[in-house]
Amino acid sequence: MPPAPVPLPAEDVPAGGPGILVLGCAGGLAAGCHTSAFLLDDDVLLDAGSGVGRLTVDQMAAIDHVLLSHAHLDHVLALPLLADAVLGARRGRPPIQVYALPATLEVLRTHLFNHQLWPDFTRLPSAQAPVLALQPLAVGQALTLGARQRRIRVLPAAHSVPAVGYAVAGTGPGWWVYTGDTGPNPALWQALRHLPVRDLLVELTFGDDEADLARLSGHHCPASLRQDLAALRPQGADTRLWLSHFKPRPAGGAAAAPACPPVDWSALLGCPAAPLREGQHFALEA
Ligand SMILES: [Zn+2]
Ligand SMILES: [Zn+2]
Repeated sequence: MPPAPVPLPAEDVPAGGPGILVLGCAGGLAAGCHTSAFLLDDDVLLDAGSGVGRLTVDQMAAIDHVLLSHAHLDHVLALPLLADAVLGARRGRPPIQVYALPATLEVLRTHLFNHQLWPDFTRLPSAQAPVLALQPLAVGQALTLGARQRRIRVLPAAHSVPAVGYAVAGTGPGWWVYTGDTGPNPALWQALRHLPVRDLLVELTFGDDEADLARLSGHHCPASLRQDLAALRPQGADTRLWLSHFKPRPAGGAAAAPACPPVDWSALLGCPAAPLREGQHFALEA
């Protein structure tokens, strides 16, 4: 028997207060679409896509920790600009700790903070007191970060480059989970087997007409996601599913088109699901 539908709120808790604010959740750039970035409380950033550009300099300067899912540009492009923006405001404060897989950090060192594409902010304003410090992490690792001592776990992802997702301890027993960019990923469902998941943010980059492209590039289309989700259902009947990383579509006119196609996602995926919205806020215990 299919699980009973879980009602999804049209509006979650308004932005502000302890929790996670969606700064960007699109799979590409367009008017009204920002790429992946999530602000946990006011001092931890998950991914550094163009959504970071919604923050003021003061808000950016308050960020002490950045967790990256992988090295692709739509998830890291704002990191070098953030470092530049807060250089003066953070003078005298510890470096912003940037956590990622060793392979991801190596890409940043070699191809981004190389004094050619961008200055090396891991050695600026001085090698002794830089604005950024790179910290390797590993799948399965547990971290406690931020002024509110948030518990965070590193989850496996299956993408075209080394990648991870993150789980953040939520209200009561429910965890907030961000899969990052991933295609079919049995290891993720295994990792979530004993974790009560309240909110699950999954990617749905392509349509079923692009299933081959999705498979080659390590992304999901509805058919592959539906198959993957079947593994989670027995453990996650109360899980709220949020869809993200849609590619912006041609607007066909003056107004910006929403990135998410107008589809009955719950019917298509066989479980309650709704598109994630920029500006959405997930409240967490203080
Ligand atoms: Zn990617
Ligand atoms: Zn991406």
